[in-house]
Amino acid sequence: MSSAENTTSSNFIRHIITKDINDNKNNGKVITRFPPEPNGYLHIGHAKSICLNFGMAAEYKGKCNLRFDDTNPEKESIEFMEAIEKDIKWLGFEWANKHHASDYFEQLYDYAVQLINDGHAYVDSLNAEQIREYRGSLTEPGKDSPDRSRSIEENLALFAAMRNGEFADGQYILRAKIDMASPNINMRDPAIYRIKRMHHQRTGDKWCIYPMYDFSHCLSDAIENITHSLCTLEFEAHRPLYDWVLDKLKTPSHPQQIEFARLQLEYTIVSKRKLAQLVNENHVTGWDDPRMPTLAGMRRAGYTATAIRDFCERIGITKKDSWIEMGVLENCIREDLNDNAPRAMAVINPLRVVIENYPEEKTEILEVSNHPQKPELGQREIPFSKVILIEQDDFAEVPPPKYKRLIEGGEVRLRSSYVIKCQQIIKDDAGNIIELRCTYDQDTLGKKPEGRKVKGVIHWVSEQHSPIAEMRLYDRLFQVANPDLEENFLNALNPNSLETLTNCRVESSLVNAKPGTQFQFERTGYFCIDTVDSTPEKLIINRTVTLRDTWSK
Ligand code: ATP
Ligand code: MG
Repeated sequence: MSSAENTTSSNFIRHIITKDINDNKNNGKVITRFPPEPNGYLHIGHAKSICLNFGMAAEYKGKCNLRFDDTNPEKESIEFMEAIEKDIKWLGFEWANKHHASDYFEQLYDYAVQLINDGHAYVDSLNAEQIREYRGSLTEPGKDSPDRSRSIEENLALFAAMRNGEFADGQYILRAKIDMASPNINMRDPAIYRIKRMHHQRTGDKWCIYPMYDFSHCLSDAIENITHSLCTLEFEAHRPLYDWVLDKLKTPSHPQQIEFARLQLEYTIVSKRKLAQLVNENHVTGWDDPRMPTLAGMRRAGYTATAIRDFCERIGITKKDSWIEMGVLENCIREDLNDNAPRAMAVINPLRVVIENYPEEKTEILEVSNHPQKPELGQREIPFSKVILIEQDDFAEVPPPKYKRLIEGGEVRLRSSYVIKCQQIIKDDAGNIIELRCTYDQDTLGKKPEGRKVKGVIHWVSEQHSPIAEMRLYDRLFQVANPDLEENFLNALNPNSLETLTNCRVESSLVNAKPGTQFQFERTGYFCIDTVDSTPEKLIINRTVTLRDTWSK
């Protein structure tokens, strides 16, 4: 696939890159990177960054690297790295090179030593609380730490001892020596190395000191000759520090950091930390729960990569924070599946219909096209017989005004089949409708009935030919638009985000469908065979999205 196709509308980053190329900056090259921390699965917000970074590189015939920002091993794992790689590939992108910030630990250490040697960093013994106190506030300047004037020799010796494991965790930190009175708090001698004994998934126990984000990220970018380092707006105030580190260390390349607004999506959460909490506290079944805004969850729900790329294109790239309506995302998948998913019939809440004038032993095989506009998607066979199942909703004993479906004494068309007429309602002792007795008009297969109009069309399956399926009707995970603004986002979880119906019936052609196959169930919605739990003996089907937006009202 050409990822450039997805980035055709204009955005301010494209303007910057085009100008840089015209000015022959970076010899006209474009090298970007996608730098996830492997501390969780990728979510829809990451997709925005992936489409941007890979999209820009593709558009300008440049390169995009995958770089794992693995400098905080406490919450990171190989499982997460593998999941991230899988999701990027699934979205349709290929990295030029795969790197890890941990590949650079030795180089980063040397850079830190160089900063100390040049008088730009010092080892501080203040503890976390004291550092906070000394830092000042937005309205007050900070104070110099007593250790700020430590000699270069002493700093070098202490930093080496930090690396050698001679101190306890947190006993010392290495700080950049910048300006404790800077109006930008990020510039008030930020920490660049800390002591923390953590087993690293790649470097094992080799290190007990780890570089901080603001130090490792810019240097990793420079080491990889990244030209445009695209990140989200919260890093804008870190840009002076990004540039300070690279200027002081005179790195061979000096990437340009450019910030854009992160994706905020209504009715969900895009923060790995909070998503991890949902998983760890069992509010969902895992990172790939179909309600999760993770790529793994969305894929399992039946979202396609095309729809997600389309979504990222539609929301665009700006410098202004805004909330995107869930309907925008849902419309992308609706449009894709409307164009491409084969049609099928499924009955979610079955009601038995006996066609009295239809022969007992007869089965007719109806040839039905899989897609009304796409003959190339072929045809399938649907059996019709004396006992069929329709949706309980498609019959009304006391019909509301303008009701066009089946009523007592009324007629309705069975999709792709005959017109039937309801003759009698059968109830159980409790008064529930358990069966309808109908007749069919045998002259109405593919033909309009003579002398009368039948307006309603309903879907159906043949009772003896329709396997039972479990349907998982997923809905939005949160019941408020901005769960992030709640005091406790967990209180905003939608208690009805999953409704499981175990007695659904689907047409026989679904028996051979592979897990992951998507369908439009006629008149019902878009569905997908679950890739984790479904088996040929027990079909489990996820609802990807309803046919129409039911939330906007
Ligand atoms: P989270 O808060 O979910 O952990 P993060 O920014 O810490 O997000 P990273 O793994 O560091 O997660 O992100 C990798 C890249 O994806 C970064 O460049 C980051 O800016 C970008 N990114 C993360 N979330 C979003 C979002 N909601 N919209 C756009 N880009 C995002
Ligand atoms: Mg992060």
